[in-house]
Amino acid sequence: MKEFWSKKIRDAEPYVPGEQPKDRKFIKLNTNENPYPPAQSVIAAIHAAADEKLRLYPDPECLDLRRAIARHTGLREEQVFCGNGSDEILAFAFQAFFDPNVPVSFADVTYSFYEVWAKYLDLSVNLIPLNDDFSLPLERFLEEPKGGIVIANPNAPTGQALAAGEVKRVVEAHPDQVVIVDEAYVDFGAESMARYIDTYPNLLVVQTASKSRSLAGLRVGWAMGNENLMAALRCVRDSVNSYTVDRLAAAGTAAALDNEEYFEKTCAAIAATRDKTRQRLLDSGFAVLPSKANFLFVSHPGVPGKALFQGLRERGVLARWFDKSRIRDHLRITVGTDEEMDALVAALTETVKTLK
Ligand code: PMP
Repeated sequence: MKEFWSKKIRDAEPYVPGEQPKDRKFIKLNTNENPYPPAQSVIAAIHAAADEKLRLYPDPECLDLRRAIARHTGLREEQVFCGNGSDEILAFAFQAFFDPNVPVSFADVTYSFYEVWAKYLDLSVNLIPLNDDFSLPLERFLEEPKGGIVIANPNAPTGQALAAGEVKRVVEAHPDQVVIVDEAYVDFGAESMARYIDTYPNLLVVQTASKSRSLAGLRVGWAMGNENLMAALRCVRDSVNSYTVDRLAAAGTAAALDNEEYFEKTCAAIAATRDKTRQRLLDSGFAVLPSKANFLFVSHPGVPGKALFQGLRERGVLARWFDKSRIRDHLRITVGTDEEMDALVAALTETVKTLK
């Protein structure tokens, strides 16, 4: 089966993305997509960009898009780097800033792609266990790491967030190492570190258009950091593929960044639905962590996570279940519309009733 494969690829343990079903219509709450469509202005910008210029390569430096991000964040365009989703940015950053001889530190329960990249790049890893309540052990992150650090804030799949002051302490405690703050979910209620880019030369903040901008299908992410860090990311990119963001993606994302009103309205709607759903689940006997993201981390005393997952699936609702120690009895459930959450709560309570 693996004939002709290189040794590296034979040994690789790739990330497994959430299911994208084609055969059956599910209420899809398994990949943290936004339940609301992109703004009309975004669709219009993509249509406008679909012209004869598609025969030309896009701008490899994504200048117009970087300017839109700079306008939105108050940074300078030199402090922004764009890529094909934040997954690509993070993969580049692991290559740009971490060396095999010094372990990179991240939490034991966090975005599972970090471990995949580390293994793929032959980096050693220092896994720092989250506390029993799934909060981040700040003191250990201040004291332990010798090499680079990656923190998802809010964390996934738990939805827990650190205050900016706490993240600053980690960045300050390790001035000789790059600290990557993955802010994929920051717009749903956490504090961004983007405003500290001028203060800390070792801070790299990574964001995405996939979640709060409703553009998972366009594949755009960006990093923010000082010019030295941006140059290293360019060096990785131009050693692999110079044109990572296509013309339509760049135009659509710039339009999304310029539409603050729609962005704020949809983020607020998702946060309100999230908090309401959490309360309903708590009232029905589920355990649900407080969340600053667009998903909830849910369990039920006495019902295994796999049974919850299967019960939901049978009732037409897809959630994400990770077969991993510590979180096997939890589901990560994306916040959808109010109607989708009504169906979710009904399916979860029915599942528990039939299993108890
Ligand atoms: N970081 C975290 C914590 C995520 O959950 C995801 C989504 N899977 C990403 C980064 C990557 O998102 P994207 O590549 O769509 O920007």
